[in-house]
Amino acid sequence: MNKVRTRFAPSPTGYLHIGGLRTALYGFLYSKKNHGDFILRIEDTDTARYVDGSVQIIYDTMRDSKIMYDEGPDVGGDFGPYVQSERKDIYLKYAKKLVELGGAYYCFCTPERIASLKDGEGNVRYDKHCLRLTKEEIEEKIKSGVPYVIRQNIPTEGAGSYHDLVYGDISVDYKDIEDGILIKSDGMPTYNFANVIDDHLMGITHVIRGTEYLSSTPKYNLMYDAFGWERPTYIHLPPIMKDAQHKLSKRNGDASYEDFVKKGYIKEAIVNYIALLGWSPKSNVEKMSLSELIENFSLDGISKSPSIFDETKMKWLSGEYIKEMSQEEFNALSLDFLKESKVYGKFDTEKLLTLVKGRVQILSEIPEKLDFLCDFGVFDTALFINQKQKTDIELAKSVLPKIKETLSDLSAFDNSTLFNSLVDLSNQLGIKKQALLWIARIALTGKEVTCGGATEIAELLGKDETMKRIDFSLSLL
Ligand code: GLU
Repeated sequence: MNKVRTRFAPSPTGYLHIGGLRTALYGFLYSKKNHGDFILRIEDTDTARYVDGSVQIIYDTMRDSKIMYDEGPDVGGDFGPYVQSERKDIYLKYAKKLVELGGAYYCFCTPERIASLKDGEGNVRYDKHCLRLTKEEIEEKIKSGVPYVIRQNIPTEGAGSYHDLVYGDISVDYKDIEDGILIKSDGMPTYNFANVIDDHLMGITHVIRGTEYLSSTPKYNLMYDAFGWERPTYIHLPPIMKDAQHKLSKRNGDASYEDFVKKGYIKEAIVNYIALLGWSPKSNVEKMSLSELIENFSLDGISKSPSIFDETKMKWLSGEYIKEMSQEEFNALSLDFLKESKVYGKFDTEKLLTLVKGRVQILSEIPEKLDFLCDFGVFDTALFINQKQKTDIELAKSVLPKIKETLSDLSAFDNSTLFNSLVDLSNQLGIKKQALLWIARIALTGKEVTCGGATEIAELLGKDETMKRIDFSLSLL
């Protein structure tokens, strides 16, 4: 069997959307699983849609997400160039050959004539007018510089059939396919032509792309067949939806990989989540590193039905990655996000990050989780009343001075010393430790919900501030 070779062939139109990255990821996973090659090819023949800087975005995103290619414009390889605009002459040569083989023909129709073919709904269907030209007529027109395009010659009868590994047997009637342009009047190929030539010349064995190409694949197969080339194996991927009706797309303002990274999603979690958009592993384990994804990936796990992009689930996965990473790794990733918080510089950075690790799912939640530490002031003392913990204002009034006394006697002021001393105190007082810790936490923060418990917060605040806050809270009672 041939070595597996897959490719990702994005058009540089501005960004790498989540759907594009999923296509890249599946091509990468399948090739790596089969010890094959993964190729990056830039499809920039549509100059009108070209956006400056977007090729760099593609390189950066793929490197950053570790969906790395073995061959591509910036890494080289034996099948280059890997940028279509640098392959113009190759396409023209093959287009001419296809004309000789009867699979294509020159078309000299003017834009006016094409416009006159519009039907009632404004759609143009080319009528094979130029297919009738003789060899001499064609040569004459080319010689005298009449502009031309090269069109595919689609049979007028029959159907094109093939087997897609996800969608099964596909058949499209040729009467429903137009004689589309293969080479434009500026000599540039269209996608419809270039993808076939390149996939063949680059030895691509498995073509993995979105379902939007499902119905145009028969026209590509006509070309493979005309040239006598082996057709690749086709794997079309289900669409990714934002909700039941809408596809996910940046045009609708939906986020890209880069945006999610900026929001503080853990990169491995984004890639992990994207892998699950349309593919399910055989086991129920969903959290998988890139190497586990490679190991578990199989084409038969790809689903036909559209998958819905569930940001909440991706957030959950990101939180799982945070829980499992080391504190050092978390600190390195989090510092820039912590700097956005009011607490930055006012408390010990490492302690802040220790407090917050495992309590955020994405890193941009860090400021909102910690800001409460700086927001201490007059608060509603009804917070001391907690029915579950059986606490009330009277209990708070009697217990707070004792908490203060206990804490002021401590020589060390770390979480576990603090915690043990308050547990001892609750035993002495004959009240539940949860009740005492509730009162302490309300007194130190004035907040019902906080990131971290009373003693973790006290450690961060330090002894002086802890004492001051208890006094202040007592003064409110
Ligand atoms: N340039 C095409 C796109 O971005 C590639 C489709 C394909 O993979 O063949 O949609």
